[in-house]
Amino acid sequence: MAFLHQSFKDTLLDLVFPQQCLVCGKEGKLFCAKCRAGLSYISPPVCSLCGHHISNDGVCPMCLSGKIHLDGLRSVFNFEGGIAQAIYSLKYHNLRSVAPLLGTFMADYLKQNPMPADIIVPVPLHPSRLKYRGYNQSLLLARELCRQTGIELADKWLERSLATASQARTQNRIERLANVNNAFIFKYPTTTAPRVIIIDDVATTGATLNACAATLKEAGALSVWGLTIARER
Ligand SMILES: [Zn+2]
Ligand SMILES: [Zn+2]
Repeated sequence: MAFLHQSFKDTLLDLVFPQQCLVCGKEGKLFCAKCRAGLSYISPPVCSLCGHHISNDGVCPMCLSGKIHLDGLRSVFNFEGGIAQAIYSLKYHNLRSVAPLLGTFMADYLKQNPMPADIIVPVPLHPSRLKYRGYNQSLLLARELCRQTGIELADKWLERSLATASQARTQNRIERLANVNNAFIFKYPTTTAPRVIIIDDVATTGATLNACAATLKEAGALSVWGLTIARER
C-alpha cells in the first residue's frame, strides 16, 4: 500500500478496524475525551537537566552527582495510565496508528517548551530487535514530530553497535552504563555542528539518551536535548 496517501490509508484502516479508546474501549478515538483528560502530564517545576518533577526550580540531586552529556531531557507524561497503555500498544501490539497521536503530543510540548533544534534523531533500535518488531517506534514518533514542526529528520545518523551485549545479560548498574556508553555509532559523514533533539518513547534512567548524546557530541553536535513521550518516575 506504499502508493496510497497516508490519510487515505488511515481512513481505510479505520473502516476495517474502527478506532477504540485504548483505555476504556469506547469507539471513536484512541483516547476518548474523558480518558484524554485523565492523562498524567509532568507538571512544573522540573529539574533543568533531567526534567523530573521536583519541588523547587533548579537541578535535582541525582543530576548534580552524575556525568551528563545531554543538555537537558524532557518528557511530556509520566509513564502510567493511558499513556503507558498507548506506548505498550505501539511497541508490542503493532499498533502503529497510535504514533501520529503520540507525535502530536510531542509536537505540542515542543511548541510550548522550545528546545534548540536543527535536527531530530530517533534512538536507533538494535538490528535484531528491529528485525523482530519490523519498525522502530522512536522513528515513527520522530517522523510525526518532524512533519508537524518542520525540523529535519536524521534517522541514519546513529546506529546501535552490533558488539553491544544485551542489557539483560549484564550484571550490575555500572556494567550496564559502560555497556550503553559504547552502544551507539555515529554514521554521518560531515562535521557540521548542529543542535540535535534525540527522540525516544520512554526514558527510564536516561542512560540510553545520555549515551546517544555522548556519541553525537563527540561527533561535533553543539547541543543535544532529549525528548520522550513518557518518563518512569
Ligand atoms: Zn476512554
Ligand atoms: Zn535531574
